[in-house]
Amino acid sequence: MTDQSSFRTLPIGRGLRGRCPRCGEGHLFHGFLSLRKNCESCGLDYSFADAGDGPAVFVILIGGGIVVFLALITEVMYQPPYWLHAALWLPLILIVTLAPLRLIKGLLIALQYHPKAAEGRLERRGDV
Ligand SMILES: [Zn+2]
Repeated sequence: MTDQSSFRTLPIGRGLRGRCPRCGEGHLFHGFLSLRKNCESCGLDYSFADAGDGPAVFVILIGGGIVVFLALITEVMYQPPYWLHAALWLPLILIVTLAPLRLIKGLLIALQYHPKAAEGRLERRGDV
């Protein structure tokens, strides 16, 4: 695998690393989840980027599935008291939701940029 096709240069790699989807050098995020206005390296305007609720949906479905599955297995096998469920699953919920949220948002924005995906718009065809 050459350097040109390494994971870092692929849209998936750029998105997961929180880098500019065009150049892969500039940062995508300003804070934890807020986007910069543009790339500091190549100047790409990030106004096209709108991941919407996509990252939250993936986090809820995947993270929620993991936590619910583990909680059900634990309840069926050990029947622990409720305070132990809370002590186990509340920190895990924070970990499985907050940790991948930025990764998934960067990934969705990178995947939005490459095929030039955008919100549908109506176009007029002359006066007809
Ligand atoms: Zn850039």
